[in-house]
Amino acid sequence: MVDEQIANRGITDSRVLKAFLKVERHRFIPQELRNNAYADYPLPIGEGQTISQPYMVALMTESLKLTGREKVLEIGTGSGYQAAILAELAKEVFSIERFPGLAKNAGSILRDLGYQNIKIRMGDGTLGWPEEAPFDRIIVTAASPSVPTPLLEQLKENGGLLLPLGESFSQVLTLIEKKPGTAESTPICGCVFVPLVGKYGWRE
Ligand code: SAM
Repeated sequence: MVDEQIANRGITDSRVLKAFLKVERHRFIPQELRNNAYADYPLPIGEGQTISQPYMVALMTESLKLTGREKVLEIGTGSGYQAAILAELAKEVFSIERFPGLAKNAGSILRDLGYQNIKIRMGDGTLGWPEEAPFDRIIVTAASPSVPTPLLEQLKENGGLLLPLGESFSQVLTLIEKKPGTAESTPICGCVFVPLVGKYGWRE
């Protein structure tokens, strides 16, 4: 998976590649689908949600340019796989999931794997995690029609917010960098994510 799907497609950050070699993706996949855990596509994880294609997780991770010192907020815990990868590369990870069952399951896998620098909470991630703000990086792993205002407010100056922006069935992965008095937006690639459902996302 790492050689063929990730390195071969241009992911070069050696810390990112090392994290993907270390984190066992099959641990985050429902038992009946584990034969496909390292395949080149997203997989269902329950509640109509998905774990993203390995390459997309890698591209998003590399785009965050983590050094190991950051406090990161993830919106959309899902299986917990992206959170584990982030925890290998940043100081602390805070992750929010709207489905209690997914949040509980991801929490128990990450605990079993021994991660001490990940906190998960259940709720509407479009509101952010004000008690823990500000964050150096924010990553949204569901598709939003616009940039949720609370997330931009909870981002540090010179920090980065990465999110799929656009319509329900087609988005552009976008990096927003917060600069003094402004925010610069850089499109990265086209993508398709499940919807971000919440006050500052899509309505239920
Ligand atoms: N990062 C996940 C992983 O590694 O498995 C994949 C996440 S999946 C593509 C998107 C997730 O976002 C789903 O689990 C979905 O329930 C969650 N989600 C959607 N809207 C949300 C919201 N407002 N707050 C928190 N989670 C949300």
